[in-house]
Amino acid sequence: MERNQIAVEIHVIALPFPAQGHINPMLQFSKRLASKGLKVTLVTFLENENLTKLPKHSSNITIESISDNNAVISTVEEYWKNFSSMVEQKLVEMVEKQNKFGKHMRSCLVYDSIIPWALDIAKQLGLSAASFFTQSCAVSAIYYHVREGKINVPIEQDFVSLEGMPQLESHDLPSSRYNSEDQPSFISLMTGQFSNLKDVDWIVFSSFNSLEEEVMNWLATQYPIKLVGPTIPSRYLDNRLEDDDDDDYGLSLFKSNTKTLIEWLDSKETSSVVYVAFGSLAALGEKQMEEVANGLKRSDYHFLWVVRESEEKKLPQNFVDETSDRGLVVGWCPQLEILSHKSVGCFITHCGWNSTLEALSLGVPMVAMPQWGDQLTNAKFVTDVWRVGVRVKVNVEGLVSKEEIDWCIRQVMEGEPANEIRKNSEKWKNLARVAVGEGGSSDMNIDEFVKQLQSYWN
Ligand code: UDP
Repeated sequence: MERNQIAVEIHVIALPFPAQGHINPMLQFSKRLASKGLKVTLVTFLENENLTKLPKHSSNITIESISDNNAVISTVEEYWKNFSSMVEQKLVEMVEKQNKFGKHMRSCLVYDSIIPWALDIAKQLGLSAASFFTQSCAVSAIYYHVREGKINVPIEQDFVSLEGMPQLESHDLPSSRYNSEDQPSFISLMTGQFSNLKDVDWIVFSSFNSLEEEVMNWLATQYPIKLVGPTIPSRYLDNRLEDDDDDDYGLSLFKSNTKTLIEWLDSKETSSVVYVAFGSLAALGEKQMEEVANGLKRSDYHFLWVVRESEEKKLPQNFVDETSDRGLVVGWCPQLEILSHKSVGCFITHCGWNSTLEALSLGVPMVAMPQWGDQLTNAKFVTDVWRVGVRVKVNVEGLVSKEEIDWCIRQVMEGEPANEIRKNSEKWKNLARVAVGEGGSSDMNIDEFVKQLQSYWN
C-alpha cells in the first residue's frame, strides 16, 4: 500500500429472501465471513418479537430489520413490488449512512439468487455484488437448461440426460408448489436467477465440492462459481467459530420448546427415534397426513413429528393422545439439535435443500418424501447418487400409503440395506466436515472470496 493511502474496510450486506430456508444458510455464511474479519450486516424482514432478540454488541454480525410498514398485500405481483421497493429503500439508507460515517468502508451486497433485481440496486449504489444460491448445483443446472430452452419442465419425454447428472425422470425434476397453472411463473422465478448472472462479481453456492463434483464442474464451465457449504453452524461441524450462538440470533421464524424435546430424546435409546419434518412451507393434504400418522403408528418406532401450527388441524383426531407413549408432535424444533442427537436414527424429510444438507452433514439416514420444487431432484440425489436414504413411492391416488411409510422406515432402520445407508451417511458426514474444516474446499473458497473482496477497490 502506498504511503498516505488508507485501507478500505469491507462491509458485507447479506440479503436473504425472508423464508427460513434462505435466512438460515445466509446467516451461517455471514458468520463464516465475520470470522475472517469482515464486518457483516444481515438484512431481513423480522417481526417485532424477533427484533427484541437481536444480538448485543458482542456479536460481529449486525442484524438490520426491514419493516413492511403494515402494507396490505393481496396479489403476488403486489408482494414482489412492495418487497423490492422496501429492499431498495433500506439499501439506499444504509449506503447513505455509510458514506457519511464510514468514508473508508466499501460494501458488497450478497443477495439471494432468487431476487436477481438486487444486482441492479447494488450497481446503482456502487456496491460490488455476489449472488448466493440456496439450492444445489444440480437443481441450478436444470434451471439453466430450462432457461436455455434445452429442456421443458415438466418434460415431455420419459427422461432427460444432462451433463454431470444421473438420468432424470419427470418426477425427479423441479415442480411448482401448486398446480400446472402456477408452473410458468414458478419456473420463470427460478430461471430468472440466471437473467443477469454474467454481470455479477461472484456466484456462491450453499453446497460443497465433493458432494456435487461432476455437476459443479459442468456449471463451472458456464459461470465462475464458488461452493462454500455446508452452511451449517460451525458447532455441528468444524467447531472453529467462537461466535456461534445457540440461538442463532433469534432468526427462527417459528417458536420451539427445546428443553422438553431434548429431555425426551435423552430418554430414548441410540438410533431409535424417527424424526419427521417437512420444512417451513410444505403443506400435506389431510389424507396424506393421516397416512403419515398411521405409518408412524404401524412402524412401532418412537417418533418426533414437526407439524406446524397451520397444519395441526389436519392431524387425525386423537392421534396425539393415542400415541403419547411413543411419539411427540411439536409445532417446530431446533432441527440441527435433533439431527445431531444420538437417539435419532432416521429423518423423514421433504428434502428441502437445507434439510438435505443438514442430514447429510450430520450423518442421518433419510426417507425422502419430496413435495415440490427442488425437493424432487434432491430426493433423486439422496437415493441414487449419495445413497443415504430411500424414497417413498406415490400410489395411484397420489398418496404415500401408511404401508409404504412403514416399509421405508424399516429400510433405513433395519437390516442390510440400512447398514449400507448408514455407512454412506457416515462417509458424507466426514466429507462435509473436511469441506468446511481448515484448508478444506469451502474454507479455501471463502478465503479466496474474502481476498478478492479486499483487493476489489484497490
Ligand atoms: N427447521 C427447523 N425446525 C423445524 C423444521 C425446519 O429449524 O422444525 C429448519 C431446518 O433446519 C432448515 C430450514 O428450517 O434449516 C428449512 O429449510 P429447507 O430448505 O429444508 O426447507 P424449506 O422450509 O425451505 O422448504
